[in-house]
Amino acid sequence: MNKMRFSRIHPEKTAVCFTFDDNFSRHGGMIAPAFLRRGFRCTFYVNPGEEGFEEKHKEAYGALLRQGFEIGSHGYVHDNLSKLPPAHALKNLQNAATRIRDCFGVYPATFAFPYHDYTGQTLAMAKALHLETRNTLPYSVWVAIRSGTPLSVYLSAVSQCVSQNRPLVFSGHSAVTSREEADDERLKNETGYNPILLGDLETLLDEIKSQSGRLQALTFEQAALLAYIRRYGTIDGDAFFLPQERFDALSAFGLCDKRLKKLI
Ligand SMILES: [Zn+2]
Repeated sequence: MNKMRFSRIHPEKTAVCFTFDDNFSRHGGMIAPAFLRRGFRCTFYVNPGEEGFEEKHKEAYGALLRQGFEIGSHGYVHDNLSKLPPAHALKNLQNAATRIRDCFGVYPATFAFPYHDYTGQTLAMAKALHLETRNTLPYSVWVAIRSGTPLSVYLSAVSQCVSQNRPLVFSGHSAVTSREEADDERLKNETGYNPILLGDLETLLDEIKSQSGRLQALTFEQAALLAYIRRYGTIDGDAFFLPQERFDALSAFGLCDKRLKKLI
């Protein structure tokens, strides 16, 4: 057995994760600052095979990674893996992971299926390459961020997850400062599909912050690591024990000891 200490994760608190997809400049420009202002981090799921990805996004996502945000894989391009021949789905997953690692120097530990669509077969492929997928974190509740969903829906999901101590995973695309922005066709490249109002996001983050005694905003990979430690190890106060072969398995997903210390 091998011992490590928690320094960032509070294992007794309910985890809340925010994930945003699809390569939007507002990830770095609008969403990340809202998290940083509160000392929080979140996850961005990228498609590194999108045309012009490096020119458009490499610098911004590289900076986010250095600030402690997670850059995860959302597939090489935004294909529905369930609808591809299996060999193509596998290539899509492999190419995405390799390109992200080459681009940013960090292997993407977690994966988010485009369209939230997966089969037993594509899930097995994704789990062979990644620690966890956004849709399969044990006991988690998943809530889509959709334009027009009242803030109260998100807030009640938070209180329900706290009372049941279940991880909560919000998933969205981008953000807007007003309803008019969401409807503005000229901004579609930045605002994306079903953007959340920035004001609602900020209120939600403030609510999470105000309950910091029992809630913790984590990146998805941090929440997945905590679930992994619960499953295969034992937690004792602010330390945990995990068999060496489980540490070895984590390093296959880019989670070497050095990186674990930063995340855990
Ligand atoms: Zn997507």
